[in-house]
Order: sequence, then structure tokens, then C-alpha cells
Amino acid sequence: MTVNTLKSHCLGFPRIGSNRELKKVTESYWKNLISLDELLAAAEELKQKNWQTQKNAGLSHVATGDFSFYDHILDTTIMLGAIPPRFTANCNTQKNCSEIDLAFRMARGDVRQNIPAMQMMKWFDTNYHYIVPEFSSQILLPHRSCGIVRDTKTAAQLGFSPKPVLVGPMTYLALSKNFGNFDRWQLLDNVIEIYQSVLHELSESADWIQLDEPILCTDLSNETKNTFQKTYQKLNDNLKNSKILLATYFGTLDENLELALSSGCAGLHLDLVRGNSQLDSVAKRLPPEMIFSAGVVDGRNIWRTDLSSALGKLWKIQAEIGRERVVIASSCSLLHCPVDLNNETKIDSELKNWMAFSVQKCDEIVLLSDLLDGKVSEKILEENVQLIQQRKTSPRVVDEKVQKRCVSVQPEMFRRNENYSERKKLQQHLNLPLLPTTTIGSFPQTNEIRETRRKFRNGEITQTQYESFMQNIITDVVRKQEELGLDVLVHGEPERNDMVEYFGEQLNGFCFSENGWVQSYGNRYVKPPIIFGDISRKQPMTVAWIKFAQSQTAKPMKGMLTGPVTILCWSFVRDDIPRAEVCRQIALAIRDEVADLENAGIKIIQIDEAALREGLPLRKRDADDYLTWATDAFCLASSGADSRTQIHTHICYSEVNSIIRWLARMDADVISIESSRSGMKILEVFQEFEYPNEIGPGVYDIHSPRVPSKDEIIGLLKKALQYIPKERLWVNPDCGLKTREWNETLESLKNMIEAVLHLRNEK
Ligand code: GLN
Ligand code: ZN
Repeated sequence: MTVNTLKSHCLGFPRIGSNRELKKVTESYWKNLISLDELLAAAEELKQKNWQTQKNAGLSHVATGDFSFYDHILDTTIMLGAIPPRFTANCNTQKNCSEIDLAFRMARGDVRQNIPAMQMMKWFDTNYHYIVPEFSSQILLPHRSCGIVRDTKTAAQLGFSPKPVLVGPMTYLALSKNFGNFDRWQLLDNVIEIYQSVLHELSESADWIQLDEPILCTDLSNETKNTFQKTYQKLNDNLKNSKILLATYFGTLDENLELALSSGCAGLHLDLVRGNSQLDSVAKRLPPEMIFSAGVVDGRNIWRTDLSSALGKLWKIQAEIGRERVVIASSCSLLHCPVDLNNETKIDSELKNWMAFSVQKCDEIVLLSDLLDGKVSEKILEENVQLIQQRKTSPRVVDEKVQKRCVSVQPEMFRRNENYSERKKLQQHLNLPLLPTTTIGSFPQTNEIRETRRKFRNGEITQTQYESFMQNIITDVVRKQEELGLDVLVHGEPERNDMVEYFGEQLNGFCFSENGWVQSYGNRYVKPPIIFGDISRKQPMTVAWIKFAQSQTAKPMKGMLTGPVTILCWSFVRDDIPRAEVCRQIALAIRDEVADLENAGIKIIQIDEAALREGLPLRKRDADDYLTWATDAFCLASSGADSRTQIHTHICYSEVNSIIRWLARMDADVISIESSRSGMKILEVFQEFEYPNEIGPGVYDIHSPRVPSKDEIIGLLKKALQYIPKERLWVNPDCGLKTREWNETLESLKNMIEAVLHLRNEK
């Protein structure tokens, strides 16, 4: 092994390939179009390409272990042998038992054998989902061969300086779930032993090993703190040839700093984009034997680095601890960033010049290292200063009208004119029956619908052709809903390919990449819109469609909007002004849309805030601040509505205990929530809190093709009625139906309505 000083690195490189190669080969493999060997060969090519990219950029080390066919936390579960028994019980054919197939089975379940998949959760506050490790008394932990060791060996043999990246044992266990009465921390010693042996194997080909412990940037219990110390002592004591870089990111260490400093690790990585406030204290207190990996290049966003600001941070650290102990790095893994800006042909050159994707970020890391060493001319720095300045002041970014309007927002603009009980009376004109039925917005998106949108986009059909096609679809959806007997109808959202992109495309201040894909989970990637400037509406965005839909029926048609927080959370957001401010700008644009819908005669308007919870900061102490501006934004968007207009909102999850008072603060007349899988249990908290407005708990899971029976729904509704009085209960599915097939949708809704009719007659 050649020993190489760690100087510059990224914490992980996107595994998906610059043209989504990983998705393509994985899906081909699932469809049996390619063999396992072909899949493995494609993966090998991808990994080597990524290593070459990092090496070409000039980084001192390349990341290994960041590649995964599905999810790296799942790979760690396999490395530890923590396989839930349901996946190994029937493992008698070779095909199902290879390491990769096992991973796919665990991630996706096995429909034929009726084995449910493992659960997925968001990785901290990113949009990346990991497969949640499950611990029960039946878990055995035999150490299995693992990809990270093989990859690290291969990289070393090919002449790269590998730096394996592994989730640390503390974060791994903290993110796992207990099943039954089992306490997974009982297995800590076994887990440590396996880590020790893996670290030992890795140390044959790597001088530095990165262990990711982002939980250090969250609130920890005293018990976890104690365990942390012991764990790292054991890991470090046993390590011979290599050193551990303890990687923290997504925030600041604060009260956990001591843990990191006394961990005995040879290096500490800090996120200096999100957690810059810790720079001074860490630099001053870093033990002399520790190196400081400074995450100054944002791994979670797409903006070009402000070199002079980053350099300022590096100088400060250098002044405290000396150049030889400073390592330049991305703030976190580049997993959260698209691959290569050079693949973009449609973003104009001015905007493109403001951005950097993963490939470019590697170059920036090296450039910063060279700047710190005075190896490149100051001219480069000056050019960057100009560029950053130009971005901040460009007329494409700054819209004084928008900014003025934001500042002139008055307190009364956050409140409806009347309180809910008054509004409820004024909304009687809607003539809704008891237990009103509705859906969340979208109806099945058939291939024909997608194809038509694509043709219109590419100019293959005219605007008139497009509109009349969509109108036919809407007419049909309206007719189907009338036949079913739903009370509040929707237009079905056929014109929307995505609930955020649809609005972003019609707003000033947004742009879109062609290929800026980021892995959300497994083979699902997303292409977030990019918010680069002040946001305003060009013209009404939804009114024509909703108005048309309303003209097809005498029943109330819900106008369907995406809320400001959700638009914000699912985009790459400009970093030159606070997120709260961007959110307020979006809120004002939505407020105008609400007014236009009202003027067009729409009586019910739903503003989806699917992502409200996702935006929660990692530290509890920061939650109130976020929830204040986030719910303010919702209120600003919705409160211009007349008291006679019924405002709905929808959220996509069921853990609401910690945010119930904020949901109440949003003061929507009706809120729909996901609840079927919790068996209505989540309504308990609404009852305890005495949530005053109307609630539509989802009565069936839309993620599965299963059709719920009438009796099952009656059962759920009866449960719901134990918590919520019937005057305030709505009936709807858990979420939108766009991913479902028509036949199952119609059957499910038919059963839902029969269940409601049954209950109405019973009373
Ligand atoms: N109105 C959207 C739909 O039905 C809501 C989707 C969501 O909450 N994710 O598709
Ligand atoms: Zn939803």
C-alpha cells in the first residue's frame, strides 16, 4: 500500500452514472434482460469511471464503498449479516441467494412469496431514502463478505488511493428499528467486532477510512453519548495500519463536539457549509494528533462555490493548526448532487456559469487546495469573486417588485377574515352531506397521458390538440367521479408531470436541468427544479383547467395547488438569501393563484403541503423557527381566500404528534392526512389536542394495488369516529392516485363510497 497524505477528497460520489446508467442496468436485470455478470460488469465500469473522475480532478484520495446497487445502508446491513429471517427462510435457489439479489429482495420485497419489503426512511433531512435496518431477537450477526472490501482492493490494484466510506456503527444503530421487545443496542459489541474485522481488512489497501457519523449533528441521549465514546475507543484501539476519519455533516456538533474530539480518531470532518459557526471552536480545540477535514464545498446544492469565502474559512483553520493538518473536502457526500453539469445543453450559459455539479465540485475542492498553497494565480479567485457578485446582483435574480412586496406583507394577511366556526357556517352553501367524500387530486396517469404531454413538449402536437386531449381526459374523470357519487370532485391533474415541476415551470426565478438527476431511493431518481432568482407568477397557472373541469359538473370542483413549503423543499434553492424569504415569495405567487381561482368561481381550493415535515431541521431547538416561517408561508398563501371559500390542505405522512399545533396554526378548513396504515391511530393526537377544524384521514393505502373492502373501510371509519365527531370527518384515500391503475382505483373508490353510504344510513 502506498501511503498518501490525505489532502483533498469528496465524502462520496454519486453512484448513478452521468446518464443514469445504474438505473438502466438495474431495471434491465430485474426484467431478466441482462445477466448478473453483465450487471456486475456495468457496475465495475461505473465505479472505475467515478474513481478516474476524482483522480483526474486531482483529489488525493478516491471514495470507495459509496457505490451500491440499491442503498449503502442496506449494504451495511448485509455486511453485518443483520438479515431479517423472512428473507433467508426460503433461500434455496442460487439466484435468490447471491448478495445482490438478497439486497434487491430486502429492498423490494418478494411479491410471489408474499414477503414484504423492508421499510424506507429519509436520510436525515435529505431526500435520499435508506432501507431501515430491522432488529429482532431472531437476528444473527455472522459477518459476510462485503463489497466495500472488494472495491477498495480493486481500486488500490488499479493505482487509485482508495478511502473507503462506511456508515459508522453509532449512526447505523441509531437509525435502525427494534422489533418486538428486542433492544438492538444489546448487539453493539457484536456490531463493533464486525466493524473491527472489516476495518482490519480495509486497512490492507487503504490508509484512511471514513466513518460517517452524522448523528453527531443531532440531539443525543446521554446513553448514546456514553456508548459513542466506548465504541470509538474500541475501533481505534484495534486499528493498525490505517486511520479513521470521523465524518460529521448536515449541521453543527455543539454539545457533541467533545465526543468527536475525544474519539481517538485521527481525523475529523466538519460540514462548514451548514455548520460554519463551529469552525472557530473546533479549530482552537482540535487535539494536535487530529487532522481537520474542512467541508467547504456544498455537497447538497448545485451552486458554484464562493471561493473567497471558502478560502477565508481555510485560512482561519490553517492559522490555528497549520497547513499540514488541513484537508479540503465536500461538506457531505455528493450523493445529493447531480453528476455532471457538462451534460446540460439547455440551461443558458449565464446560469450554467453559476452552477457546479459533482464533477465540477471535485475540481473546486482541488482548486481550493491549490489556492491555499498559492499554486494558482490570484486571477482565478478574482474571476470567481466577480461571478459570485454578478449572480447576487443580476437582473435575472433580483426583482425589486417582488422584494418590495415581500417586505410590505401585513400581519392580517396571515389570517382568514373569520375564524373557523364562523367560516363553517358561511360554507354551508356548499351543501355537502355528512361524511363528505373526495380524493386527493390526481387520477391514474396512463401512458397515453404521458405520451401526449411529451409530444406537446417536443412540439409534435399543437396547443389546440393538446388542450382538447386534456379536456377530454378531464371530462372523463369528472364523469367517472359523478358515477361513483363522490361529493367534491377534482380534475385529476393530467397536465402535471410532477406537482412541483408543474408550478416551477410557470414561475419566474426557476430553471430546469435536463439531466440533473439525484437518487431518491433505489432506482427512483428525481430531477429537482432550480430556484435561482426572485419568484413571481407570470400568469394564472391552473385556472383554465380547473374552470373547465368545473364547467363539466354541478358538484364543487376543488382547485388544486402545491404549497410554498413543498415547492421549496423539493427544489434546489438559491443560497444567497434565507430559505424563509424564498418561501414567502412562493407563498405570494400562490396567494395570487388562490384569488384567481376564486374569481373564476371555484369554491374549494386545496393547497398541498406534502413536504412540510421533511423540512424540519435536525435539532429540536431549531424546529419552532422553521415551523413558524413554514406555516406562515402556508397561511400567507391561503388566507386571502373569502370565508365562503373552503381551503383544504393535504400532508403525506402520519407522524404528526410533534407538529399538531402547527397543523392547527395552518387553519385549513379541511386537512387530509395519510392514516390507513396506522389504523386511524394517528387521530388520537388530533383528539387530544382538540384540533378544531375538519379532517380527512386516508381510508386506504394508495401505494399498493390492493382493493380495500367496503367492510374494512367501515371498520376504519368507525374507529375514526371514536376520535373525530362526524360533523368534522371527511372520507378520502391516503394520497393522490396517479400511480395506480384505473380498474383498482374505481373498485376502491366504489367500496369507499358504499362504506360511507352505509354509515350515513346507520345514523
Ligand atoms: N394533489 C397531489 C396528488 O394527488 C398530492 C400528491 C402528494 O401529496 N404527494 O397527486
Ligand atoms: Zn400525499
